[in-house]
Amino acid sequence: MSETDLAAVARDVFGLDASVTRLPGEHDENARLDLADGTTRLLKLHRADAADGDIDFQDEVLRHLERCAPALVVPRLLGSATHHGRTTRLLSWTPGTVWAASPSPPEELRRSLGAEVARIDRALVDFDHDLLDRTYRWNMLQAERVHAACGESSDPAMAWARRTLADFAESVLPKLSALPMQAIHNDANDHNVLIGAHTDVHLIDYGDVVRSPRIVGLAVAVAYSMLGTAEPLAAALPVVGGYHTESPLEPEEIVLLDALVRTRLAMSVANAARQIRDNPGNAEYLSVSQAPVRAVVVALSEIAPAFALYSYRDACGLRPIPQRDVDSFLDSRKCNPAAIVDADLTNADVQDWSVGTTSHMQAIRDHIVIGRYREERSVYTTDAFATSAPDGERRTVHLGIDVFVPPGTTVYAPLDGVVHTSEYRSERGDYGGVVLLEQQTETGLPFWLLIGHLSRASAALLAAGRRVARGEPIAAVGERNENGGWPPHIHVQLYLDLLGRSTDLPGVVRRSQLDVWEAICPNPSRLVRGLVPGLVEAPRELSQDEIATRRSRNLSATLSLSYRTPLHIVRGEGAELIDAAGDRWLDLVNNVCHVGHSHPRVVGALSSQAAILNTNTRYLHPAIVEYARRLLATFPDPLSVVFFTNSGSEANDLALRLARTATRREHVLALDWAYHGNLTSLIEISAYKFNRAGGTGPGPRVRVCELPDPYRGRFGHDGAAYADHVAAQLRALDRDDSPAAAFIHESIPGCAGQIELASGYLAAAYTHARAAGALCIADEVQCGLGRVGDAMWAFESHDVVPDIVTLGKPLGNGHPLGAVVTTAPVARGFVTGMEYFNTFGGNPVSCATGLAVLDVLRDEQLMANAREVGARLAHGLRFLAERHLLIGDVRGRGLFLGVDLVLDRDSKEPATAYAAGVVEAMKHRGILVSSDGPHDNVLKIKPPMVLCTGEVDRVLVAFDEAFSEVN
Ligand code: PMP
Repeated sequence: MSETDLAAVARDVFGLDASVTRLPGEHDENARLDLADGTTRLLKLHRADAADGDIDFQDEVLRHLERCAPALVVPRLLGSATHHGRTTRLLSWTPGTVWAASPSPPEELRRSLGAEVARIDRALVDFDHDLLDRTYRWNMLQAERVHAACGESSDPAMAWARRTLADFAESVLPKLSALPMQAIHNDANDHNVLIGAHTDVHLIDYGDVVRSPRIVGLAVAVAYSMLGTAEPLAAALPVVGGYHTESPLEPEEIVLLDALVRTRLAMSVANAARQIRDNPGNAEYLSVSQAPVRAVVVALSEIAPAFALYSYRDACGLRPIPQRDVDSFLDSRKCNPAAIVDADLTNADVQDWSVGTTSHMQAIRDHIVIGRYREERSVYTTDAFATSAPDGERRTVHLGIDVFVPPGTTVYAPLDGVVHTSEYRSERGDYGGVVLLEQQTETGLPFWLLIGHLSRASAALLAAGRRVARGEPIAAVGERNENGGWPPHIHVQLYLDLLGRSTDLPGVVRRSQLDVWEAICPNPSRLVRGLVPGLVEAPRELSQDEIATRRSRNLSATLSLSYRTPLHIVRGEGAELIDAAGDRWLDLVNNVCHVGHSHPRVVGALSSQAAILNTNTRYLHPAIVEYARRLLATFPDPLSVVFFTNSGSEANDLALRLARTATRREHVLALDWAYHGNLTSLIEISAYKFNRAGGTGPGPRVRVCELPDPYRGRFGHDGAAYADHVAAQLRALDRDDSPAAAFIHESIPGCAGQIELASGYLAAAYTHARAAGALCIADEVQCGLGRVGDAMWAFESHDVVPDIVTLGKPLGNGHPLGAVVTTAPVARGFVTGMEYFNTFGGNPVSCATGLAVLDVLRDEQLMANAREVGARLAHGLRFLAERHLLIGDVRGRGLFLGVDLVLDRDSKEPATAYAAGVVEAMKHRGILVSSDGPHDNVLKIKPPMVLCTGEVDRVLVAFDEAFSEVN
């Protein structure tokens, strides 16, 4: 049909006036319709002989997705009609460019592809239809039929496809059929995947949906994501990782993935061959589109299936090789290796590979042992294991241990074993004489020991199958000239799996594959440790990307990272953080490292006490009582008893227990947008959590009181007016016969957006609470310990004395330390016969640390500093507010400040995106600041208390630029 004909269909059937662009389609006529209102639609005219059932089935799938997963970008069915005997359908347009047209989609897009396939699988999980089990040539469960249709062929790819399909039928299908089945998309091929905005990926074409184990659908996506890449496995791993993050895979599914990927490629080769046979006129087109598939088939044939499996497991955060028995054996006393060489290495010099240059090689002396993991600067260009692309990453990481001893030195079998192979490898890998010994654990599990760089003659004497006994002399160290030019030494390496090979096993591997190789090759230092006491495993340095990858694999996705490009911080000093590249960042975020990052006096006190004793509180020790006395001295009467905990959350949880026990009541009043900690008991009173993403509303024992926010609240600065709401909530609780145990508040609500409580609020609220018999709890976890500059504790400026005060963050300057301070009567009320025991709370190391923090605070006059530099900063920010309309409010005290950003000063509409922009713009200027508040529009400033005036001035200049920039 011409575009004019298609335009007529759009007009006659759907009443749409559109400009029409014809699109390719295997069976149907497809057209893009651009309407006058700027929207785009997809018009489909199905073949006259298309079964109605097939089209209805597709419509059912789309309707199901629309109903069950409204957030997914999936074609929506907008209309359907019959036109001259052909079904025509109008669908929404899915934006994006096809994957096949993108030269090499980066890792992020690959992850996104896997995640989208997982989301669609999840949405299809409860879809059912008779046609899900139809006979269909792209249904992998029926791959045997494809196999049967293959026929004989001299084409090597066809021969491979036949073999792969036969293997599938024989050994994969039975396991596959045992997995749970569901409807899957089944065709995430590179023409059905669209790359949308940012890293969004969408799937189109729901005509291939079948019932199958979900791993099949992932295998389809993986197979096509490999096309056009030099390294198919590397290209596949993020797809698998992305799927797993969204919808975790089971080991029984992962174990089949490699075979399923190969099977899908074989189906592609075989189906194309059949199409060529049936339709020779189209042969050229079909062969061209098969070229990338065949290239992947060739590249995959170089990758051992076991290596692919280990890599897929690794991508899913599982140990690459599940069994741990060889490692346990090597670490146990049952493994008692004999000395591997006849040399005294007790004083050997243990070195690393990082200086593996030629001149270094000349300088190498005997009795040097080179540990594993060290990265070589000289690179191996030969590809001993076909895992390095010609122009790609080189193999640089040495997995074995090298022991440099004179040539001719006798080499002994460290364990009983059998010679698996021995060879002389001079051209590839420079190994000289190499022996591979098969070893066994005490329970008979096999593993292999490779010893390289032996003399040619001695290696030749080691016939395969020969038994060697522990301690038996088996070979001699080779000369330099039979050794690829290396100084004489042996290379010792262990393998759990020979990956189908017995020669050409790599000793040096690619860094990006190290996690997998490390699992295949257990640490060999255990075999020479007795001989070389100085040998310790070199720490493996992780790059920023490796750290990020490991986080995503093995840590919960609920742990977030700051910044679009996260920072890799390795050191802290004063108010600064230092990254791995040595760049310094001024830290306005960390109110935990109160007296400065890694303050030497605090670190000294902590480490000296740790070197002497650390136990629980069940013995007499002076540190806890001295710290208790010093800490309590900072509180007004009648606060005289302290409990030590390990965090602010623990302190708040204990405070609630104290109040509930003392009052024999359960209910609690808390402020709106409060955050009191991460324990169950605190999430249920923290509106900042229970009313935001993932929250499930307040717990049954909490009543929320209006936040007395002078800037946005209803009553401005009139604290007493807000306190009336406290009174009202107390009365409501009384009416329900559930009187309040406590009224809890942060003295300057932080997560709520650095809110200075309206004046008079606390005094009035305390009066109401106490009149109703409730206790008053001040949470000073964030704002306490002198941060506000004019007082040690922020409640002090409100003319109140709480019954309970909770402390955390700054107390230990980063060491986990919290406390609850209370009155003698409340503490007495907690004595019920039940012991309060806290394993770590109040231990000597924590108390010594807390004491040192108090000492530094006093000796360095940091409270006065917070007052002075904080005032300078606040003043400067208010000055900036005159020029930047974005600044709605500057508030706070000392070094606990907030800058409320608004789109409009009258409506005070939060400028959330601008706040994020300012945070990034400040980062570009080397300054770290965070945003918070219910709308994430408040810049939070709470640096270590050692911030100096010079730094304040730098911050103000940077803010001035950042505000201009985001505007
Ligand atoms: N209370 C307040 C006011 C807090 O800000 C926090 C931590 N942000 C906590 C309690 C909980 O402290 P932690 O995370 O140390 O348990």
